[in-house]
Amino acid sequence: MSLFNFKKLKQLFSHDIGIDLGTANTLVYLRGKGIIINEPSVVAVNQKTGQVVAIGTEARSMLGRTPEHILAIKPLVDGVISDFETTEEMLSYLLSRAAVGSSKIFAPRVVVGVPSGITNVEIRAVRDATRNAGAGEVHIVEEPMAAAIGMRMPIREPIGNMVVDIGGGTVDIAVISLGGVVKSKNLRVAGDKFNSDIIAHVRNQHKVLLGEKTAEMVKIGIGSVLPTHAPLEMPVKGRDLATGLPKEIVLTDNDVRDALSQSMESLVDSIIEVLESTPPDILSDVMHQGMYLAGGGALIKGLPELLENEINIPVHVAADPLTAVARGTGIILEDLDGYKDILVEHEGELPIKK
Ligand code: ADP
Ligand code: MG
Repeated sequence: MSLFNFKKLKQLFSHDIGIDLGTANTLVYLRGKGIIINEPSVVAVNQKTGQVVAIGTEARSMLGRTPEHILAIKPLVDGVISDFETTEEMLSYLLSRAAVGSSKIFAPRVVVGVPSGITNVEIRAVRDATRNAGAGEVHIVEEPMAAAIGMRMPIREPIGNMVVDIGGGTVDIAVISLGGVVKSKNLRVAGDKFNSDIIAHVRNQHKVLLGEKTAEMVKIGIGSVLPTHAPLEMPVKGRDLATGLPKEIVLTDNDVRDALSQSMESLVDSIIEVLESTPPDILSDVMHQGMYLAGGGALIKGLPELLENEINIPVHVAADPLTAVARGTGIILEDLDGYKDILVEHEGELPIKK
């Protein structure tokens, strides 16, 4: 028998972390501490030197207003790595800020969430980027699974658990039972699309061009997918398409509702599609228990009620929907061995074959 248990010692000293690599926001959960980083998934790169000059909030403030040689990049598009090098830069920055990766022996074990239904090639890209950034072990979990764990849903029970994670680039819809994803669908109509819906609507109806950030402010400020008790209003500045000059107009919740109507229809249709292909026994659990919403999009006013009306099953919103996936990775970190069976295997194979 050895004098000390090396595995235990390693676990004691390594700063294991969970990462929610979202299209809109990246969160880092440090074991024993909780969420220590919560930043927009944006990296600013100096094209002359190839160096990263800013990451997160600072880089986002540069979006659309950088000098020519500085490029603000969103390295994740539709939930997958579209820019491998930048993602790796971002991950190394996150690992170093979490004060990990400095020691080879105590290199951190990292749990990374990825959208459900991404390809093996994409899974490998995430794994390689994380390893290159300094991780010792890399474990991959499907985001809806992590969200369900973060929401403390009984994922191991022989019952149907439905999760709808509405992020920036994608909506992940999944039905989980017995620790595996039984049915899932990945919809590329999410928060970013809602913003562009608002931009398109205001351009058509008011002949004014809004910036991306303004559209997001409108969505969060006065967006409601059901009529509100009192009308909501917000003055916004954009470019008058007729004169090319700045112009202020007042938008209402009605404008936003009109703008989002088609996207809401796609969301409802996709959820119904998943329900229709769910085995009857599991479906009856979902009808009874309802679905659980996570992701920033879950905060759109009126959304739970709209879904309940349209789909006719109870809808619950996670306590803190923006952090559900990160909290889930944290719970997994506490008991990696116990959760092995629900993680995506090392060869890049999903635990339950679809
Ligand atoms: P991802 O996992 O793709 O990074 P998040 O779960 O972090 O996405 O959610 C980000 C999205 O949620 C963005 O599109 C953002 O505009 C949207 N969002 C955040 N808060 C709200 C809110 N209060 N109302 C509506 N949308 C919101
Ligand atoms: Mg997410």
